[in-house]
Amino acid sequence: MARIVMKFGGTSVGSVERIKNVAQRVKAEVDQGNEVAVVVSAMSGETNRLVGLAQDIAPMHDAREYDVVDAAGEQVSCGLLSMALQDIGVQARSFLGWQIPVRTSDVHSAARIKEIDASLLDQKFSEGHQALVIAGFQGIGPDDRVTTLGRGGSDTSAVAVAAALRADRCDIYTDVDGVYTTDPRIVPVARKLDKITYEEMLEMASQGAKVLQTRSVELAMAHNVRLQVLSSFEDKPGTLVCSEDEIMEQEIVSGIAYSRDEAKVTLVKVADRPGIAAKVFGPLADAAVNVDMIVQNVSEDGKSTDMTFTVPRGDLARAVQVIESANSEIEYASLDTSATVSKISVIGVGMRSHAGVALTMFRALSDKGINIEVISTSEIKVSVLIEEEYTELAVRALHTAYGLDAA
Ligand code: ADP
Ligand code: ASP
Ligand code: MG
Repeated sequence: MARIVMKFGGTSVGSVERIKNVAQRVKAEVDQGNEVAVVVSAMSGETNRLVGLAQDIAPMHDAREYDVVDAAGEQVSCGLLSMALQDIGVQARSFLGWQIPVRTSDVHSAARIKEIDASLLDQKFSEGHQALVIAGFQGIGPDDRVTTLGRGGSDTSAVAVAAALRADRCDIYTDVDGVYTTDPRIVPVARKLDKITYEEMLEMASQGAKVLQTRSVELAMAHNVRLQVLSSFEDKPGTLVCSEDEIMEQEIVSGIAYSRDEAKVTLVKVADRPGIAAKVFGPLADAAVNVDMIVQNVSEDGKSTDMTFTVPRGDLARAVQVIESANSEIEYASLDTSATVSKISVIGVGMRSHAGVALTMFRALSDKGINIEVISTSEIKVSVLIEEEYTELAVRALHTAYGLDAA
């Protein structure tokens, strides 16, 4: 007997028919004698609808009430799946985040899971329950109010439940049959990976591949959770996310990710003296604006220089407000912004031991006439900022340039 966690995303539970299909998949695991915890997302489109309702009621709404509304989609899908399971003879019961409880931080709409007490779930299994259906994406904060984990957060719920239950594996069922070399929806010749390292998956997710939420990969890595991404519609092997020593043949570049959720800010002619960067980024940090790429040019006259950085697109207005109100300290000449940029990243642990990876990227982009606005690198990643309209062209060109296209 094994203990497993199965997670089904929005498309997988998007209709009554699909929920019944999910119930059959869960029953198949139960029939093998396994104890199954199932984590579900809201039915597809539902979270967007709820977010829209909150916006329409009051654009500057209270974050606590936003989470009460936002978490509602998962309550419906977990109740429905529990009913569907009972209907086909599986002993199932639903659980909301607060009932378990899934304890989180107090950052509403971007809460982090602090602790999951597994004792109730353990008790339910020992009483003979076969499938415990858990609402993903939600938890309960220090003040006992409902919290949510950020978009895509049900992946994180699933991995956290798997860690708490010491599950043998955590299977993430979704609308693609695994992790691909890049988003298969924009590059049809993308290849499915049999395995990917935690580190690469972490970079892929944090650079925009939404197949897994970044935090879920972090948790899986920290707790050694055996994580798989599989199709909820087809019965075939998916992708295993595992440690580097489980992978024999390592490609130099394993994948390409893109993110359109980017905006660029340039401070023209800021004073070139110690302390200025802290005066720019201090107030941004205080305002919880997450700065990503940063470049500062060499000063031509020794007095002033240009400084460029990127922020999530939704934070641009706030970032500008913060910078403008700090101008008396920063003393820049003007502020340029763009909300039509995107970030393209190539990722691979093989980069650690191979030179020339970035050069291939720069050549491939220049062959297509695509201008690079900002560059940043880490040990296993090179990212560039480009005009958003070239996103797909760039991803396709890089996919070919690194020899990733399927034969
Ligand atoms: P779910 O609702 O099941 O959580 P998501 O929409 O959050 O599903 O994630 C699955 C989607 O991730 C796919 O439909 C695909 O378009 C996208 N995606 C982006 N990058 C990749 C990648 N490298 N491999 C697989 N899917 C990817
Ligand atoms: N329903 C939430 C969302 O749409 C969480 C999830 O699907 O993982 O973001
Ligand atoms: Mg998702």
